[in-house]
Amino acid sequence: MIRIEHIGIAVKDLASAEELYARLLGTPSYKREEVASEGVITSFFQAGPNKVELLESTTADGPIARAIEKRGEGIHHIAFEVADIRAEMARLKGEGFVLLNEEPKRGADNKLVCFIHPKSANGVLVELCQEIGPA
Ligand code: ZN
Repeated sequence: MIRIEHIGIAVKDLASAEELYARLLGTPSYKREEVASEGVITSFFQAGPNKVELLESTTADGPIARAIEKRGEGIHHIAFEVADIRAEMARLKGEGFVLLNEEPKRGADNKLVCFIHPKSANGVLVELCQEIGPA
């Protein structure tokens, strides 16, 4: 693992959360991006070397909508940057972690991502992400 890349926060209303986090972090969101396959719209903030990702559900029954229903708004996942996502997935599988996707998938912010089940990480949803290099 290289570093914590970002912290994902589930929010009900992206516009008001963006306004709040802009005041909190002292910098505006630098990007909004919809990930249709996940049913979310995301908004990214830079906070020093790390990022904050706000996530609002675009569907009534998507993963973010369900998370908010169960636990309310708040920290949804922690994302670690890795150099080689497939190697890291294989290593973690060997260590007994449960991966939520068997193949890396395309996430927001030009990343390949894989999630680890919170049940195998003390209740924390962990995301691995690898920057997609220039084609
Ligand atoms: Zn994320």
